[in-house]
Amino acid sequence: MSFLQSIKNTVRSRSIHVSYVNVGSCNGCDIEVLAMLAPRYDIEQYGIYVHNNPREADILLVTGAFTPQWEDKLKSIWDKIPEPKAAIAIGNCPISGCVFNRRGSFVDPPVAKHIPIAAEVPGCPPRPTEILNAVLSLAPVVFKDYEEKQQ
Ligand code: SF4
Repeated sequence: MSFLQSIKNTVRSRSIHVSYVNVGSCNGCDIEVLAMLAPRYDIEQYGIYVHNNPREADILLVTGAFTPQWEDKLKSIWDKIPEPKAAIAIGNCPISGCVFNRRGSFVDPPVAKHIPIAAEVPGCPPRPTEILNAVLSLAPVVFKDYEEKQQ
């Protein structure tokens, strides 16, 4: 285990930090992601925190139909997230391109071709509870080293 991973596991062993990127959505999925932050769903009660710094993230949420302009940018964001990490495709767009995947369009789905995707949340858009379930389901992945250390 690297020094950085050791610090991460010690300091953040009880919380999941989520970063978020929109690679070309209609904003429908983004509203559902933001709804998780509102009092109705209140994801912070589960120890999940959303912010925009990938260097502090465990999980990357990706919305939108991938376009070639995002090739380098998305890879750069993904590379900044320290291990262990995971990415979740939110909505049909990063999974299939959804309504944007037409002949002659510039979308290049699935986003799993460009970064490793650990979970997919289909829907147009998916419900906040489904997104929340996906984030919580990846806790064993992003805290793998911590869990092993406790055994
Ligand atoms: S999956 Fe549907 S709601 Fe989500 S970004 Fe695509 S078109 Fe919009």
